[in-house]
Amino acid sequence: MPKEAKTEIRVRLAPSPTGFLHIGTARAGLFNYLFAKKNKGKFILRIEDTDQERSKPEYEADIIEGLQWLGIKWDEGPFRQSDRPEIYRRYLEKLLNDGHAYYCFCAQEELEAMKQEQMSRGEAPRYNGKCANLSNQETKKRLADGETSVVRFRAAKKKISFTDLIRGEVEFDSSLFGDFVIAKDLNSPLYNFAVIIDDYEMRISHVIRGEDHISNTPKQILIQEILGFSQPQYAHLPLILGPDRSKLSKRHGATSLLEYRKQGYLSEALVNFMAFLGWNPGTDQEIFSMTDLIRDFSLDKVQKAGAIFNIQKLDYLNGAYIREKTLDELLELALPYLSRAELIREGWPNREKLKEILALYHERLKKLSELPELIGFFFKKKLDYPKELLIWKGMTDQELKLSLNTLEETLSAVKENNFTKGNLEKILMKITEKAKDRGGLLWPLRVALTGQKASAGPFDVAAVLGKEKTLERIREAKLIAQ
Ligand code: GLU
Repeated sequence: MPKEAKTEIRVRLAPSPTGFLHIGTARAGLFNYLFAKKNKGKFILRIEDTDQERSKPEYEADIIEGLQWLGIKWDEGPFRQSDRPEIYRRYLEKLLNDGHAYYCFCAQEELEAMKQEQMSRGEAPRYNGKCANLSNQETKKRLADGETSVVRFRAAKKKISFTDLIRGEVEFDSSLFGDFVIAKDLNSPLYNFAVIIDDYEMRISHVIRGEDHISNTPKQILIQEILGFSQPQYAHLPLILGPDRSKLSKRHGATSLLEYRKQGYLSEALVNFMAFLGWNPGTDQEIFSMTDLIRDFSLDKVQKAGAIFNIQKLDYLNGAYIREKTLDELLELALPYLSRAELIREGWPNREKLKEILALYHERLKKLSELPELIGFFFKKKLDYPKELLIWKGMTDQELKLSLNTLEETLSAVKENNFTKGNLEKILMKITEKAKDRGGLLWPLRVALTGQKASAGPFDVAAVLGKEKTLERIREAKLIAQ
């Protein structure tokens, strides 16, 4: 293998901008990137926009922004197929001149009828070769007459096999698909043709892509052979399946990758999560940074079986990455979510306070988008909750009022600079010592300060709010308890 050993590793991601960057393409991008970095090769981004009707600039922008967000950096590109028509045209003309491709004038309805008939006989649908042997003269005349046509590749009938780095030996029989369309006209190449020209022109050494493309591979190899191109190595990545092993639906992830950012996932968590969609290190290690992945990734640890998309795993990883952040980093990450929820207002809370608030939730936070819901009460001028929420197990109105009065009196007596979690805990716990149930005092305190049943502990919250705001909220609770 000395020749191969010297070949430069060059891989590519070739997304079609006909939809948002979804998890399948992002995963293919990640695996290509890791493979390139690991092997000191090059990673190329190529936008396959031959489908002019369905390709949209906003999808291309989404793909690029998504990859950048994930930290998947390309060394060359982005190249756009729509910028390279003369290259495809040159090869199309060559194939036509050499008789390896021909113009086909069959109408859509005719092809459809042919397909139905073949299927009713239980055969695989394929072109019947009606235009395969038209004379040059006739072809020219029909083109000159403006008849609608496409360019078909004359597919040799044979077995085509290749070694897939993930799936092993793969074999197809080209007679099952017959002559196939490679261009709508000389200026409009189709995917199976353009991809081969580009992979050759861009000197791609390894084609790493989703398994959904495996049935395209024999067609591409046939074109490659006729044009005398060398064959890249193929690696078809396992499909990504929903938890019920069905095809991934919108609900479990067939959505724009940037949607995950909006939902409060960190890019590190997504990268880690996607790496495990088909790959695993063969050890117990679960947390992998991009650098770890570059070091440990290899195609021979990629599985053949479908990879299950498990959102709980993503949440778990996201929590782990959030915990790794410093409070300053967490604050920077949190700010857009708090601003979007219109929580931050002039003067309150300042950065230091915000960090104190975030510190209370740092350990248990799974997604940044949970923050407004979890910590929103700190920011509100007035809390909104029903009186019933203040009542601890069977408490009478009288007892509730008494508790709130005690809280007000006790906390008013605490000096501003003694308003710390430890101190407040000591003082209030002492008062509750004589009571038969601490909840009678601590429950109304929690609700008065947070308006919630579940929150960070009331002493923590009181300390962050400070004396003035704490007392304001207790007085507010007294009004609600009236
Ligand atoms: N353009 C194809 C797609 O978006 C990818 C082609 C390939 O990787 O060969 O699915």
